[in-house]
Amino acid sequence: MTTAQQLSFDVQLSDAARTPAERERVLADPGFGQTFTDHMISIDYTEGRGWHDARLMPYGPLTLDPATSVFHYAQELFEGLKAYRQSSGSIVAFRPYANAARFNRSAARMAMPELPEETFVESLELLVQTDRDWVPTTEGHSLYLRPFMIATQSGLGVNYPSRTYKYMVIASPAAAYFSGGVKPVSVWLSQDYTRAAPGGTGAAKCGGNYAAAFVAQRQAVENGCDQVVWLDAAEHRYVEEMGGMNLFFVYGDRLLTPALTGTLLPGITRDSLLTLAADLGLTAEEGRLSIDEWRAGCASGELTEVFACGTAAVITPVGSVKGVEGGWTIGDGGPGKLTMRFREELMGVQYGTRPDTHNWVHKI
Ligand code: PMP
Repeated sequence: MTTAQQLSFDVQLSDAARTPAERERVLADPGFGQTFTDHMISIDYTEGRGWHDARLMPYGPLTLDPATSVFHYAQELFEGLKAYRQSSGSIVAFRPYANAARFNRSAARMAMPELPEETFVESLELLVQTDRDWVPTTEGHSLYLRPFMIATQSGLGVNYPSRTYKYMVIASPAAAYFSGGVKPVSVWLSQDYTRAAPGGTGAAKCGGNYAAAFVAQRQAVENGCDQVVWLDAAEHRYVEEMGGMNLFFVYGDRLLTPALTGTLLPGITRDSLLTLAADLGLTAEEGRLSIDEWRAGCASGELTEVFACGTAAVITPVGSVKGVEGGWTIGDGGPGKLTMRFREELMGVQYGTRPDTHNWVHKI
């Protein structure tokens, strides 16, 4: 296989790059995932040859045969991470090697080729360096990076994986993910639908998991809730995760988060918070929590806060829960003290206002 050292990027700069004024207009109100920077990364893979044709090129559409395998059998995976402009002016990515490792774990599950971690990180560096003026300066904003890989072989044979692939990275300036800012979300317990079962693809970041989730998210909205909470496949009793975020339950100074059983995504924010909890002298456990325990904990007052965490929205308080058997409120329904503390600590490391004691930030 081609090694990271042998791959060198061919650079083709855009002659249609937006003007500074056009860019500033986007950056004034970037939303989330709506507008993309001027360039993108593309690297091709061919079985027997390895990775080749690494390019930085102008952002633009792809031309693919309608029989391309990704359109039919969804052999696809993606990642999500952010570049932050720190108070010193430096641009950093948060734990990009953790995303590289998860990318390769997803690839193994989807019978797709692994990309050397160095190449993954180098591709992010090249895109961010080229489009560095797109990294927002507004506090709380960032440049969201979306690496992904698709199966590009054309043909409808379903019994074997594609022999060719394309890896790409696109980037999009991002404001806060939830338009309301730090506002507690209401969640819907999904008992009609299952996100992932043992042996399935729940721990992989593949598009199919998200396609199958839309109908449950729509049901959550129809029930007056912001987000869907997924339960275990067998009994629909144990909590797994929320939409595109992991969950934490706070019992005073003890934190509990659902264990990585193979049916939920191993979030990099989740992993970082387990470390931060220990730094703050809190006990953090990975375990199992049923919806009955969730309700009872809130009724007795032992369960003081619940929050969700992920790259896009950082940390979001959960204020209330609803399911087919009724609903309840968590604490007083407002953002909890520890929720806000974790948010500050984590964003402090990302934006450079707190010391990076775990070497999580990667300078670009
Ligand atoms: N769960 C799911 C299903 C997700 O899509 C994400 C976002 N990647 C997360 C959890 C949180 O992961 P991370 O902290 O790495 O963003």
